[in-house]
Amino acid sequence: MTRTVILGAGISGLYTGFRLAEKGGQRVTLVEKTSTVGGMAKALPYKCYWLDFGPHKIYSVLPGILDEYQRIMNNRLITVTKHNSIFLEGKRITFPISPLKAPFQINPISIMKCGFSFITAKIKQAIAPRPIKTYEDYFLAGFGQASYKLLFRDLALKVWGDPKTLTEELARKRVPVPNLLELITGIFRRKPTMSAKTFLYPPGGFREVAETLKRKIEGFDGSVSLDSQPTGITIKDGKVNEIRYETEGKKHTVKNPDFVVSTIHVLDLLNLITPRPPEAVIAAANRLRWRGLVLVFLFFDRPNVLGENWTFFPERRYIFNRLSEPTSQSPEVAPKGKTYVIAEVTLDPTDPLFEDDAAVTKRVIEDLAKAGICRPNDIKETLVKKARRIYPVYDVDYRENLVKVLKWLDCIQNMFSIGRPGLFNYNNTDHCIDTGMKLADTILAGGKMKDWIEVRKSFNAYSIID
Ligand SMILES: Cc1cc2nc3c(=O)[nH]c(=O)nc-3n(C[C@H](O)[C@H](O)[C@H](O)COP(=O)(O)OP(=O)(O)OC[C@H]3O[C@@H](n4cnc5c(N)ncnc54)[C@H](O)[C@@H]3O)c2cc1C
Repeated sequence: MTRTVILGAGISGLYTGFRLAEKGGQRVTLVEKTSTVGGMAKALPYKCYWLDFGPHKIYSVLPGILDEYQRIMNNRLITVTKHNSIFLEGKRITFPISPLKAPFQINPISIMKCGFSFITAKIKQAIAPRPIKTYEDYFLAGFGQASYKLLFRDLALKVWGDPKTLTEELARKRVPVPNLLELITGIFRRKPTMSAKTFLYPPGGFREVAETLKRKIEGFDGSVSLDSQPTGITIKDGKVNEIRYETEGKKHTVKNPDFVVSTIHVLDLLNLITPRPPEAVIAAANRLRWRGLVLVFLFFDRPNVLGENWTFFPERRYIFNRLSEPTSQSPEVAPKGKTYVIAEVTLDPTDPLFEDDAAVTKRVIEDLAKAGICRPNDIKETLVKKARRIYPVYDVDYRENLVKVLKWLDCIQNMFSIGRPGLFNYNNTDHCIDTGMKLADTILAGGKMKDWIEVRKSFNAYSIID
């Protein structure tokens, strides 16, 4: 029986482990440093609540992935009709913005400005086309100055940083329609290029996804070791010949694993390897920057607050990018008659605010009142959870750095780096399943690195559908 060690029990690691165990009768061992499975898609127990680590929906435009999701969840996923909106110029507007409702919801002067600057942008591009290199270039060329400022510029500044330094690839992944006209006609044609109308969700909350995968792996005699820290990976003759980890002080060594799948951050992976990787490779991994996420949970003694699944706040006058209410997807995540709202605040982990829970919470409460969502007295309790490396920053140099790192890692023939942290890929959980499926199938077909490098190219086309 072949032996595969998987670092990290997020959805990428769990699904890959499950697929290998199920299809290939492989013995899989997952090594997870925290005490919970699910990674970014985990849920945390708190009093009588299950707190989703940010709102998660299940949706995919990748062929076959939703069916596979239902299969692994034993067809228990429920269909939820999505209700969400976007807060613009002090008003709540249905999202995606409806061309029929927009004239009644958005200031007509803003609409005229958007239309006029779209036409101006098209004329400018026709007369003197400019290369599209940055996030800003993409939106200015396709949408015009006014829409860019209204919808996309501040959001970038809040979530990833200066849009002039970000690559157009990020813009394309987030808004996979090239211009305003196609966006509007796409909405008329009800094409799910940007926004799903319905999504799937586990009846007991998103935690069920990771928990089900863990149970299934264990059912195939695989193991998921929580609170386990990898301590070293030794490479010999271009292969991993030993991997070591510790679980609560107990040391484990796996000699000559057939395969290693890493879903941890590439920098952390490089730092585990002996002999030490070249300094230039480590430096390139160090230049891959991440934005952190601060989640402020707000608890209420009433059954609902937002009246919808989530609300986007692209403008900078609000500290949060989005508010969400998981009880709108599954009432089981809170006690009867109570609810909680999550405020997502994206920050650079070096920003002093990142460490100051009281200051972030205060801003969130003030901004909730400013937007008319609730009064400070309505909030019964608050809680802060955060993580440093959540959003890969696709700056204009990121691909060069990533290629340098992956090229070096690809020389280790039996080790594969995947997942959001392992490929610096802005993935969603449907992408985790797609990647895991393709990697497991490559491994089961012999695990040739050159095959994998070909397969991996398709992941660049993943796009995020809100
Ligand atoms: C706020 C928010 C909302 C989202 N909404 C959606 C949504 O609606 N729909 C959707 O499909 N996706 C959504 N996503 C994306 C989704 O959460 C990710 O795509 C997915 O969870 C990534 O899984 P992963 O396994 O690739 O990485 P991770 O979840 O990061 O998994 C990596 C795992 O490795 C572990 N680890 C790290 N370092 C080590 C180490 N040294 N040793 C051992 N273990 C280690 C981590 O603890 C973690 O468990 C959202 C993400 C966020 C942040």
